Amino acid sequence: MSKFWSSMAKRAKPYVPGEQVEGPNILKLNTNENPYPPSPKVNDAMKNATNHALRLYPSPTVDSLREAIAQEQGVTKDHVFVGNGSDEVLAFSFMAFFEPGKMIRFPNITYSFYPVYATLFDIPFEEVPLQDDFTILPESFFQSEGGVIFPNPNAPTSVFLPLEKVETIIEQNQDHVVMIDEAYVDFASASALSLVHTYDNVLVIQTLSKSRALAGLRVGYAIGNPELIEGLSRIKDSVNSYTIDRVAMAAATAAIKDETYTKELTTKIIQTRTSVTKQLEDLNFEVLPSQTNFVFATHPSVPAQVIYEQLKEQGILIRFFNTELLHNHIRITIGTEEEMKQFFTALKDIISKNI
Ligand code: PMP
Repeated sequence: MSKFWSSMAKRAKPYVPGEQVEGPNILKLNTNENPYPPSPKVNDAMKNATNHALRLYPSPTVDSLREAIAQEQGVTKDHVFVGNGSDEVLAFSFMAFFEPGKMIRFPNITYSFYPVYATLFDIPFEEVPLQDDFTILPESFFQSEGGVIFPNPNAPTSVFLPLEKVETIIEQNQDHVVMIDEAYVDFASASALSLVHTYDNVLVIQTLSKSRALAGLRVGYAIGNPELIEGLSRIKDSVNSYTIDRVAMAAATAAIKDETYTKELTTKIIQTRTSVTKQLEDLNFEVLPSQTNFVFATHPSVPAQVIYEQLKEQGILIRFFNTELLHNHIRITIGTEEEMKQFFTALKDIISKNI
């Protein structure tokens, strides 16, 4: 603590991201990145953008990218807000729609950035327990005092909540915003986007970091009714007018437009996810039904921490959360077929040695 810190800086409890270790022999299955490269069209667009124009500020309203997203998602540009990664969109959304002093709700097992934002912005929060099978009980989110946020599919559980249940949560919170964090939705069966047209209190947040293989670019977006989008713009324009640089704007627009390539990547990852789940089950793991690009699993006899540490010794990184609710589980990002082969060779050895 420094005497120079504001009360905001003092109460902050910053998020701890997964390890970003780089090296030739590191297999990274710990931060849910896409194992494949982004669309080749992204590269071309970036090259074209790194020219004379870089001396000029980018568009503060990010029009061309918002237009591309709107077209892809079947909404108008006024329904779209773009930010520097969905983390920034989430932070702005907390500021724009959740009120200090009014209790919001999110699941007790969920994306660990939510309590970080809530603490920073002085928003009290209730961590609503998931059911024993790690599913969300919709009724427990009805009639919140200040609003609701949850990922769908949820992270780190990978479990999807069917849309009719999502809708009941929105329907039962009509005086407050319900944020659906759809970071992994392209690996799932449905998006809540269709509900944006029926309800004015729903904000759907998506990212280019996962299905478009652009975690390094930092682009995410929110879709909601134009009043919500205006609220977000008011916050952004009170912090930084230019959150999306010219290169990112060009690259993201190219990625959004290359829907065929995105589909190819998600199809491959979903196929690998099916075989990874089966192989884990063959090793006696219990694996939650995943609709994401990762799986969440527990072994009946080998502790999660042992698996995590012994894989790490071999340069294979997975995610282990050393918390009361999660310490029995490991989260494994789906890599390429080759990478998963390497993972299973190491894992089989660890399980047989520790059983
Ligand atoms: N939401 C969830 C549920 C996530 O897992 C992540 C990735 N860590 C994000 C949002 C943020 O993604 P990004 O900022 O890369 O768009």
